[in-house]
Amino acid sequence: MRAAVLHEIGQEKLEVLDDVEAVGFGPGKVRLRIRATGLCHSDVSAMSGVLPQPAPFIPGHEGAGEVVDVGDGVTGLSAGDRVLVCWLPACGDCPSCKRGQTHLCLAGFMNAGTPNFKRPGGDVFGFAGTGTFTEEVVVGAGCAVPIPDDVPFEIAALIGCGVTTGLGAAINTAQVEAGSSVAVIGCGGVGISTIQGARVQGAAQIVAVDPVASRREAALRFGATEAVAPDELADAKQRITGGEGFDYVFEVVGKSATARTAYETTRRGGTLCVVGAGAMDDTFQVNMFELFFDEKRILPSMYGGGDVLRSYERAIALWRAGRIDLESMITHRVRLDGINDALDQMRTGEALRTCIEL
Ligand SMILES: [Zn+2]
Ligand SMILES: [Zn+2]
Repeated sequence: MRAAVLHEIGQEKLEVLDDVEAVGFGPGKVRLRIRATGLCHSDVSAMSGVLPQPAPFIPGHEGAGEVVDVGDGVTGLSAGDRVLVCWLPACGDCPSCKRGQTHLCLAGFMNAGTPNFKRPGGDVFGFAGTGTFTEEVVVGAGCAVPIPDDVPFEIAALIGCGVTTGLGAAINTAQVEAGSSVAVIGCGGVGISTIQGARVQGAAQIVAVDPVASRREAALRFGATEAVAPDELADAKQRITGGEGFDYVFEVVGKSATARTAYETTRRGGTLCVVGAGAMDDTFQVNMFELFFDEKRILPSMYGGGDVLRSYERAIALWRAGRIDLESMITHRVRLDGINDALDQMRTGEALRTCIEL
């Protein structure tokens, strides 16, 4: 079958091959035919080595498709079911799950060290234990979450990562209050979803911050009340908050420099919510005086910071009600052969979300 493979960490291009096989099918597993997958910035970060990932590997973790086959012991799923791929399934049994923090469950993540694919050259890993830039993938049954018939595959794919991450940061983690002021630094697919989440929560001002003009224009369509370039943020802070700082600032880039800007742009007692996935050698610094004296809350948010299955349902409910716009987030569509063009568009910031149709 066809799949897009990265041979070595640090390479910029994927090779689309047709000699890849999905392996590991058996008890507790399901075989999926992927129909649509989004290109998430984490895929690019894994390719460049910012996020840890063994190679060779098949990127992609934001996907949707149909169940082809179910292994022994799998309940609640059967061939033909339409599902989205959850890259962080909750086991229900570990300390994190028992505490209700199912998004911190690492049980399913243990699969990430086991190859999901093979080809004549040897084993091939799947990103984050999934790998959706492929026609078929074998995943644990918990990674296959049924979706209602009215949710198209391309919309379900977005809900599988970017939309859940962004909405959840605003709704679950920061719990944006009605009437508050918000700034969102970084306006790709996750940032746009954060803006939509802040709007759903009733924020009065939502300032989108991004160096790319097309993303600033997009942010205004998705609910930002104004959009500025990074060098205009200090002025916006002065103008909108009287210099005090925003009630909530979301860092959706994953770099210490933008996190520091976000910290300084947050008001005393306000909330800095860190959504971007950054590198292990990039250190965010806060001095002990400001940490204490300014009482700013620093809240990281992983995969939406709440129960993932509940977050999916909520995203679907908001989308059905017309309260969030997911269709317009897909700015580019490609077949698997166009994946390298899609990666370039992601790197320049031209695309909000690219949907890869399989
Ligand atoms: Zn668990
Ligand atoms: Zn992602």
